[in-house]
Amino acid sequence: MKFDFKDPLKGLDLKLKICDSHVHIWAVDAYPKLEKWAELFGIKRFLGIAQPEIKKGLEKNGTSANIIFAYYMPVDAWAHYDIPKLLSAVDEAIKFGYPVVKMWFGPRFLDLTKSEKEFSISSPNFDPVFSKIEEQDLIVDIHVADPDYWYQTTYTNVKKYRTKKTALNEFCCVLEKHPSMKAISIHFGSLPEDLNLLSNILEKFPNLSIDTASTKWMIRELGKNLEDSREFILNHSDRILFATDLSVGWGDRTDNYYASRYWSQRIFWETDVKGIELPFDDTDNPNPPTLINGLNLPVPILQNIYWKNALEIFKEL
Ligand SMILES: [Zn+2]
Repeated sequence: MKFDFKDPLKGLDLKLKICDSHVHIWAVDAYPKLEKWAELFGIKRFLGIAQPEIKKGLEKNGTSANIIFAYYMPVDAWAHYDIPKLLSAVDEAIKFGYPVVKMWFGPRFLDLTKSEKEFSISSPNFDPVFSKIEEQDLIVDIHVADPDYWYQTTYTNVKKYRTKKTALNEFCCVLEKHPSMKAISIHFGSLPEDLNLLSNILEKFPNLSIDTASTKWMIRELGKNLEDSREFILNHSDRILFATDLSVGWGDRTDNYYASRYWSQRIFWETDVKGIELPFDDTDNPNPPTLINGLNLPVPILQNIYWKNALEIFKEL
């Protein structure tokens, strides 16, 4: 079996409701393209990361009903410790009715923002920001770190980028200081490569969930040892949210981009296929191609990951 754009649901028999808890919406008029493909694959809701003017535009033209909105906090303000700017961003999120705030700390952000200062997510400077988020009951959607492979190849300047472990420890410090803050650590907590560590973190922090975004990262890493991955997912099935990180309205995204990601993830979670080539490039794999080895999860577990856990966190589904 392989992905067939002319028969995009090939190999998928289940009809389950799905919330895609991580998409980026960069333009109002581009959104229907994402929605069209998502709908075909059973996606009924999104956590949509979109700035206020996009949110307003979607609300105005009546296409926002399926979206729970996340506010993207300014990346440069984190890098430069601009606390007033971060606090006013939280105010803006509240003012515009966002239930979720998104934070991106992929180490590249220190290059993009031309930061000269050493960075730490757990710096006491940020305490008022996280305290406000916690007090206001906003949900944090956070990108803490990148694939292990990037630390081996790109982030070799440890002083600047920190190690992956350091970044994860900083995030755990923030969770310790803000015990009632709800957080979703995206990309499987940045740890699909180390499920033992991820298990310990989830056990320590009951208000923490993880998402399955980045189709290629999940399929590459969780497909390596199916027994361990399956055991982890069964143990933590109330803490995992289905998500893709698909983006719409930024660059020229083809129909194939949407269909191939949704197909690959669903095949991965729902079926027992082995050794199917991922239908798009995975440049993060030092030994390509990335192959799909299906996890064949039981339906009640899929229902948790696809819908119930999102309902529990976002309430308003
Ligand atoms: Zn994202």
